[in-house]
Amino acid sequence: MSVALYDVVIEGAGPAGCAVALELLRRRRRVLLYDRGLPGSGKVCGGFLGPELRTYVRSQGLSSAWSRLGLEPIRSVAISGPGTRELASNLPGDGGYACDRDRFDRWMLDRTLEAGADLSAGTLRTDSRRTGGLWRLQLSGPNRTIEVHTPVLVAASGRRQPARLAGRQEYFAVRTAYEGVRGLDGRVALHFVRRGHVGLNPTGSGRATMCLYVESECLRRYGADLDGLMRELRAVNPALEAALGPAARTEGWRSCRAVPDGVLRFGQDDVHYAGDAVTMVDPIIGGGIPVALEGGALLGRLLAAGGTAHQGSITRSYAREWKRRFLSRVLVAAALGRAERSDAVSGAIFGLLRWNPGVLGGLVRLTRAAP
Ligand SMILES: Cc1cc2nc3c(=O)[nH]c(=O)nc-3n(C[C@H](O)[C@H](O)[C@H](O)COP(=O)(O)OP(=O)(O)OC[C@H]3O[C@@H](n4cnc5c(N)ncnc54)[C@H](O)[C@@H]3O)c2cc1C
Repeated sequence: MSVALYDVVIEGAGPAGCAVALELLRRRRRVLLYDRGLPGSGKVCGGFLGPELRTYVRSQGLSSAWSRLGLEPIRSVAISGPGTRELASNLPGDGGYACDRDRFDRWMLDRTLEAGADLSAGTLRTDSRRTGGLWRLQLSGPNRTIEVHTPVLVAASGRRQPARLAGRQEYFAVRTAYEGVRGLDGRVALHFVRRGHVGLNPTGSGRATMCLYVESECLRRYGADLDGLMRELRAVNPALEAALGPAARTEGWRSCRAVPDGVLRFGQDDVHYAGDAVTMVDPIIGGGIPVALEGGALLGRLLAAGGTAHQGSITRSYAREWKRRFLSRVLVAAALGRAERSDAVSGAIFGLLRWNPGVLGGLVRLTRAAP
């Protein structure tokens, strides 16, 4: 079997893996990405992209391909709770964008392949090992196994499932699309339901991506009848009912288990982590993709500058800079996620918003990157 040598091998060709790769390729490193699935094949995601995306695309010199993303501009966010009326606030700065998540992942991968990355379909076999400062990796694909050698291995393979969820309620997310949704012109909506939310993101011409994030208990009651679950949620939230009243579902349901874990991990056993593999940004703020892109670019720059000799010092610099740039946003997202899961706290927040709707703008600003 022939053996290929790479400067860096990256597990996972999602936004984070591509962002690490793009930085390395700009500095003429040889990069292989491998992925167990076809990127762009139906991730469960709200599809909201913050204004940070534009900054990232400019910094990578990718602006000429911007129009191919097919983004819808978003200027404001609306929220509602069970039995409350809808409140809205403008997004800070340039606002944000609604994207088709499959198209976005495919766009990132295409840019990375154009920049010179190699891509392999497959997963790592357990007999892969590190000896003499070199990873000897066996990658098992659908038709063949290849051997590649590299001094640097990056895991950008998305969020981890924790070993156990001691006493914690599990959360699930489902995604579908509707047409004929009302009140979403340039606006993303978060309709809170009991211990969860329904996110609606416009994708143009009255169409919207819907992402529902609820306790597994809620799904268990309805089994496969997710339209039945939606009827129950619409009955408790009048603003959600008003938005979806005339709408028709246009796609099947896709589901995933979403695990907020609160653990940070930057490097371990000579593997560097990127994107959700570092930590998951609670989906409530729709902010995971910018953190995956900017954090991935940061790791790529440090790996390119640091060479192969000092993996530990690269990890320390990465952890320090990552925390400086992203930790406050991640903690705000975690706090809002916790609030959503507590009837008492979410009730108090909606009480505060009824008393002073201006508080919403402050909360929204806390969830976005500083300009
Ligand atoms: C319900 C929900 C809604 C969300 N909504 C938003 C939103 O609106 N806006 C936003 O910005 N963020 C959102 N996020 C977060 C966002 O989806 C993630 O932050 C983002 O996908 C992280 O990118 P990543 O590259 O780290 O991981 P991923 O996108 O998960 O990519 C990981 C890649 O690794 C591959 N892989 C996994 N395991 C292996 C393996 N063993 N071997 C080889 N390949 C492997 C996978 O196939 C995948 O292609 C949401 C998350 C959830 C759960």
